[in-house]
Parts: sequence; structure tokens; C-alpha cells
Amino acid sequence: MNLENLIRKNIQSLKPYSSARDDFKGVASVYLDANESPYPSDYNRYPDPYQTKLKARLAELKNVASKSIFVGNGSDEPIDLLYRAFCEPGVDQVIIPQPTYGMYQVSAGINNVNVIEVPLTDTFDLDVDAIKNSFSATTKILFLCSPNNPSGNVLTRSKIIQLLEAFTGLVVVDEAYIDFVNEPSFTTLLSTYQNLVVLQTLSKAWGLASLRIGLCMAHPIIVDVLNKIKPPYNISGLTQRVALDQLHDEQTKIDHVKQIISEREKLTTALSGLPMVINVYPSQANFVLAKFTEASKTYRQLMERGVIVRDRSSVLLCGNCLRISIGTPAENQTLLTTLRQL
Ligand SMILES: *Cc1c(COP(=O)(O)O)cnc(C)c1O
Repeated sequence: MNLENLIRKNIQSLKPYSSARDDFKGVASVYLDANESPYPSDYNRYPDPYQTKLKARLAELKNVASKSIFVGNGSDEPIDLLYRAFCEPGVDQVIIPQPTYGMYQVSAGINNVNVIEVPLTDTFDLDVDAIKNSFSATTKILFLCSPNNPSGNVLTRSKIIQLLEAFTGLVVVDEAYIDFVNEPSFTTLLSTYQNLVVLQTLSKAWGLASLRIGLCMAHPIIVDVLNKIKPPYNISGLTQRVALDQLHDEQTKIDHVKQIISEREKLTTALSGLPMVINVYPSQANFVLAKFTEASKTYRQLMERGVIVRDRSSVLLCGNCLRISIGTPAENQTLLTTLRQL
């Protein structure tokens, strides 16, 4: 497979914006090249467009080379840029197994790219044959989410590998919840499969949702094309600094993940014992999907009592299901006490 050929023709030939920081990358004593204010503050200079220091730390943490990492303004940005780089509007398609994270579909709509929806199995796993039957020459991206949102399960690894081998387009594996999983990341296969794209984020386990840092790890050809089409200064200087600072403390993240996993197991057991709960799906993420006798009614009753969960009952295969994020031990206790009082 040739990655270059997969890129849209107009993007292949696009001449990217060249910023002042692209033209001169060294260190100087006088900078008069970017029409910045000369008066020093923490913010008067444009930030590093390629987030070099932040990526060096991410490379260390993720065991992925800097040149294989793209940093976006949340995961939303690389999702959108992948469409813009690889999918010809009105011509190409993507495959999105259902149910899953809604942003792949919204971004397809924004970019006028057709979506082939393929249902997951009743255990929310991949239906490999159904997906393979949907492949065509104009199918450019397959979006997989593992652990899957909203179901919480990991997709079977060998099935993802079968699809990586059978598909001539990109296979995006969204690992937003990878820190909560006891399995290796797909980043370990980046050098084996050129068409593999792994998304991760600092929004979940790292507790930095407000910073908006999404990672896209892939072959350098893919990273280069995303860099070519992104807004030049997509990550603010303030965000780069705060993110780097937060990433120095990995132990706090590890401790919080441990606590959340332990709470997830406790909450799963406790919810399963409630008469209004039919099933709690096994989760490897920081939330659980639970089937209730009357989900929407329970959702409203919880809301009236100040406890907000996510009503997923209108989603395919999720009839009468609520998605519940794992909170602090006290918050989870409040949820259970409130449910018992209903
Ligand atoms: C929460 C989540 C993300 C994170 O998105 P950000 O834009 O990085 O905050 C990505 N993918 C999935 C499946 C998620 O659930």
C-alpha cells in the first residue's frame, strides 16, 4: 500500500502556510519577523507550531517517536483533519461500527463524507465479515473505538488486526480510555501497519479535558500531512506549557487510574444488585453502561436530585441504557444512595 496515494490529490499538491517560526527555527537576539509585540509578557510571542518540547515528553511516555506524534486541539481536531486529508467530499466513504463515539459521524457530516454504519455484535464486538463486506475502492477510513464508548468493552485485538491486514485505507483506533485497560496499546504495532492511526487524549485519565490535547500517533507520512493542513498555531503556548508541566507527574495519574478502576468494579457490583438494574456491561473504561428497567425515567429522577448521568437509551443496541462515569468514592456512593431511594 502507498500512503501518499491515499492522500487527496489537492492536499498532496497543497502549498502549506509558512509561518515566521517555519522560516526561522534557530535562536536569535532580535525577533522582528512575526509582527508580534516587542513588549515582554508571558504571551507576546507566537508558540512553537510543532510543540517540540511537549512531544518530546509524550514520546517518552508513549514510547512512540516524536515524528510519529501529532498534537491536536482535542481528539476532535485530528479526527477532522483525517477527513480533510484523506476523504474526497461527496465521493469517498468511511466505515463506523455502531454504537460508538458520535464525533466520527458529525465530522463526516461536516466534511460531506458518506458513512457506512455497521452494527457491532450483541456483545459490542466487531463483526469482521460485515465490515469486510463494506470495503470498496472509495472507502478511506475505518473508525474503531477501543475501549468503545458508550459500551466500555475493548474490541477483540485479533479482529482489529484482521481488519488492519484486509483494509487498504486507514484504520483509526481511538484509545481515549487506554489508561484504564490491562492490554497493550496499538501504538506497539505502528511500525508493522502503515495504515494504523492511534488516537489518545489527555482528557480522561490525565484529568486535563479543559486543556484540549488530543494525540494522533501514526506513520510520519500521515503526521506530516496533518501538520501541513492544521491551523499553524493550533495549540496555544499556555496550553503547551501547562500540559508539559502536568505530564511530569505521572504518579498522580497512575494513582487516580487505580482508584477509578477499583471504584468501577465496586460500582458494577453494587448496581447489579439493584432491582431497577437489568444488566451492567463489563467495562474497561472510566464509565459503565447499565441497562435499567426504565432508563429515561431513572435518568430524570436522578437529574431532579442533582445527579447527572448520560441517557443512551435511544442509541442502537443500548435500549434502556444509562452511561455512568466513575466519580470519587463519595460521588459514587451518592449515586447509589439516590438510586436506592427511588
Ligand atoms: C472522550 C473521548 C475522546 C476525547 O476527546 P477530546 O477531544 O480529546 O477531549 C475521544 N474519543 C472518545 C471515544 C472519547 O470518548
